[in-house]
Amino acid sequence: MPERAPDAVVIGAGPNGLAAAIRVAQTGRSVIVLEAEETIGGGTRSANLTLPGFIHDVCSAVHPLAVGSFFFRTLPLARYGLEFIHPEIPLAHPLDGTAVELTRSVEETSAGLGADASAYLRVMRPLVRNADFLMRQFFAPLRLTPAMAVRAPLLARFGLMAIRSAVGLGNAIFKEAPTRALLAGLAAHSIQPLKNLSTGGYGLMLGVTAHAYGWPVARGGSQKIADALVGELQSLGGRVLTGRRVGSMADLPPARAYLFDVTPRHGHRGRRASAELSESAQPVSIRAWRLQAGLGA
Ligand SMILES: Cc1cc2nc3c(=O)[nH]c(=O)nc-3n(C[C@H](O)[C@H](O)[C@H](O)COP(=O)(O)OP(=O)(O)OC[C@H]3O[C@@H](n4cnc5c(N)ncnc54)[C@H](O)[C@@H]3O)c2cc1C
Repeated sequence: MPERAPDAVVIGAGPNGLAAAIRVAQTGRSVIVLEAEETIGGGTRSANLTLPGFIHDVCSAVHPLAVGSFFFRTLPLARYGLEFIHPEIPLAHPLDGTAVELTRSVEETSAGLGADASAYLRVMRPLVRNADFLMRQFFAPLRLTPAMAVRAPLLARFGLMAIRSAVGLGNAIFKEAPTRALLAGLAAHSIQPLKNLSTGGYGLMLGVTAHAYGWPVARGGSQKIADALVGELQSLGGRVLTGRRVGSMADLPPARAYLFDVTPRHGHRGRRASAELSESAQPVSIRAWRLQAGLGA
């Protein structure tokens, strides 16, 4: 008997593709995930790259966005072996012969920042207190809600800082080189020149996540995140097929919906498949697409 077409096909078994598949499966719909490589996980892959017995994270290693994610928090990922390890100090930025530390406490961190102590408190304290709210805005499409109206002053203040480059923001609010270096190190995770607009926002948000959620690693490697997501997906009836590179729409089984967890830069083949979708099905014009910052789980 021919297999019934799934309701949805997700292309790419990275953390976002797997999360999307779980969301579909939670609604009782059938879903399969097609992954080009032989292993799942995308940017959360880990592999044995050096000596036997040593597991290395191939890409992402620290996961404030996984523990801070509202969706991930609702999933029973510990049931599938996922455990986060929190270091005592989430991050330290090395300087000549010393280091500037960011601890979970905003107050403790500011105490190590000399003349910038009060500026750091002024900037970070309100953001960290509202971390959950800010995360919701950061990871959702822009939508006006009553909660946004209530926090309009906070959002306006954050927006005015976040739009700036890391260099501009650091020079404007901090006096000391170590504090500027701390912000620069955080902002560098945007994988963009630090003079680019909005790199300051990446620095601020990553600092907020370090204070509010920590910067944990997954015990056994980031791969455990992907493995746990697959465990949850399978428990809901979803399936992942590896070694299935989608080169064009002809490679896709019939389905009611297709979700691409790939970027146009994931190769000509994936791009061709995306481009074959009708214009109306494309939320963003593929032509206008440009590589943005590499964050977000
Ligand atoms: C160097 C580096 C370090 C990073 N460090 C961190 C970090 O420490 N913490 C953090 O939170 N984030 C980090 N990130 C960002 C993080 O890796 C990404 O945000 C995350 O992996 C995005 O997940 P995704 O599911 O959207 O895509 P991906 O993880 O990229 O997954 C996409 C999947 O699609 C598959 N695929 C591609 N094309 C096709 C096709 N045509 N057909 C079928 N399958 C296809 C790929 O093989 C892949 O498995 C880092 C990024 C980089 C580049």
